[in-house]
Amino acid sequence: MSERRDIVIAGGGMVGISLALELSRVLPPEISILLVEGFALPAGGGDYHPSFDARSTALSYSSRLVYEQMQVWDELQQWLCPIEQIHVSSRGRFGSTLLRAADHGWPALGYVVENAWLGSVLASALARNPRVEVCSPARVVAARAAAAGLSLELEGEGAQPLQAGLLLVADGARSSLCRQLGVAHSDKPYAQHALVANIVSARPHAGCAFERFTDEGPLALLPLVPAAAAQQRSALVWTLPPERAASLVDCPQQMFLAELQRRFGYRLGRLRQVGERSVYPLSLVQAAEQVRQGVVVMGNAAHALHPVAGQGFNLALRDVVELARVLAAGVAAGRAPGDLGVLQQYRERQRADQQRTIGFSDRVPALFMHNDPVLGLGRDLALAGLDIAPPLKQAFVRHAAGMAALRGHGHG
Ligand SMILES: Cc1cc2nc3c(=O)[nH]c(=O)nc-3n(C[C@H](O)[C@H](O)[C@H](O)COP(=O)(O)OP(=O)(O)OC[C@H]3O[C@@H](n4cnc5c(N)ncnc54)[C@H](O)[C@@H]3O)c2cc1C
Repeated sequence: MSERRDIVIAGGGMVGISLALELSRVLPPEISILLVEGFALPAGGGDYHPSFDARSTALSYSSRLVYEQMQVWDELQQWLCPIEQIHVSSRGRFGSTLLRAADHGWPALGYVVENAWLGSVLASALARNPRVEVCSPARVVAARAAAAGLSLELEGEGAQPLQAGLLLVADGARSSLCRQLGVAHSDKPYAQHALVANIVSARPHAGCAFERFTDEGPLALLPLVPAAAAQQRSALVWTLPPERAASLVDCPQQMFLAELQRRFGYRLGRLRQVGERSVYPLSLVQAAEQVRQGVVVMGNAAHALHPVAGQGFNLALRDVVELARVLAAGVAAGRAPGDLGVLQQYRERQRADQQRTIGFSDRVPALFMHNDPVLGLGRDLALAGLDIAPPLKQAFVRHAAGMAALRGHGHG
């Protein structure tokens, strides 16, 4: 007879660990939670882990509130850079606009954190958490619907067959568990790749994030905390046609910097140094089903977005909070965590937020890449319009900060 856990989380990336921490916070102690992660989780940071690579993530204000409640924010704050303003511009065109946190009475428009640091903080919070059992390095290799939930097969450290009342699938964008369970995905390739690297500039970023739309695709430079005294660092996310990304990822540093400077301009002075470069193919991937009896698909396994608006992880975190809230209410009412009615409630409550956020991330790059002069004019007017129409700007900023979708956190 195999052992049973009430909740099994398959995948301990940024989403899976956040999910474990939030569930342990809101569910009663008799609900058992197990997290299974394929790679050895970094106990004090340092070890390589694919979810926590050289990328950085722009956390929205709503994500800050979530991490405050999980009590990891104070530690995270040691190495994150508040975004005090966002400069949005369009290469070779007239429009530009400046969004400033101070104009909205907020401490910041968002916070840039290096994934390695986020991973290290989350993994140590997990290690300190007595409520969550961790099985790592180990993988869930098979999942089948069974009488009261799911039958799981695991491979790796401490692996043994398990019964789970609820399986939370958080194994990333090319989810092998979704394939196992017959959950289909739609895949809309953008024919663009994201080139990611850290950049050292001569001039300070002064807490400014730059979002620049070019005919090749959007280019973002997000402010980072200096790694060494007086070293001004920003995180680059440069969306490019695949062949351009391939040529720029390996070219000599000076050639790379000259090309970036030509595209970005001199708002940060001379660009002096580029760190390790990596390239990610971009597509909009969505699971056809997110809930079933005893199963919820979360994070990138449910929806992987274009990174232009920095929304993918922030949306996933709002999903995490809502799922935890709905499960807690269900358990309090005497229903099992895997109860389809409870899980459908979660799906309904997050549907509008997901549709809005995915639509926004999908439309913005397309709008700004068109060479059509009429669309170009519209886009310039839109940027200029943001500057002259404060209510429009307020709405844009609220969306970018994830506040538009925020529920029940005691903030607007
Ligand atoms: C270039 C780029 C920039 C981005 N910038 C931002 C940003 O600024 N803001 C933002 O909000 N979002 C951003 N995103 C999106 C963000 O990176 C994703 O939302 C996030 O990585 C999703 O994490 P995840 O935990 O769902 O998946 P993953 O990070 O892929 O984690 C999945 C985990 O599951 C494990 N695993 C896989 N299979 C199994 C198995 N069978 N059993 C057990 N474990 C398994 C893997 O080892 C891995 O640790 C960006 C994305 C890209 C590509």
